[in-house]
Amino acid sequence: MSDCIFCAIVDGDIPGRIVHETDQSLAFLDANPLAPGHTLVVPKEHHARLDEVPADAAADLFAAVNDLVPRVEAAVDADATNVGINNGPAAGQEVDHVHVHIVPRFEGDGGSPIHAVAG
Ligand code: IMP
Repeated sequence: MSDCIFCAIVDGDIPGRIVHETDQSLAFLDANPLAPGHTLVVPKEHHARLDEVPADAAADLFAAVNDLVPRVEAAVDADATNVGINNGPAAGQEVDHVHVHIVPRFEGDGGSPIHAVAG
């Protein structure tokens, strides 16, 4: 899709710090990381919302996430990760191409759990 920054990374039109690739998914480092190793995993095909992603692409996306979580943790010696999706603008989605955040967490890092907003 034109005007989509993540499509441009998938297409190789702008540089991305790519860490993993499958037939249907691509993972790259976040340009403004919340923590060292903050990684985004996207379906290669443009979809704005999670429920618009076809089942096979969603399966590929979450298999990639599952593969990546321990690798990201090991790469930055993290104790845990927040794994999440901002699904829609009201939830904080700024880039309208589905992406899964993998945010490394460290004991005592002072960050917030995903459920903090609901608390
Ligand atoms: P959202 O708020 O869930 O949509 O998150 C968008 C994420 O994309 C943010 O964490 C941004 O830092 C990240 N981001 C925006 N542009 C780029 C880019 O060109 N490369 C990598 N990450 C980006």
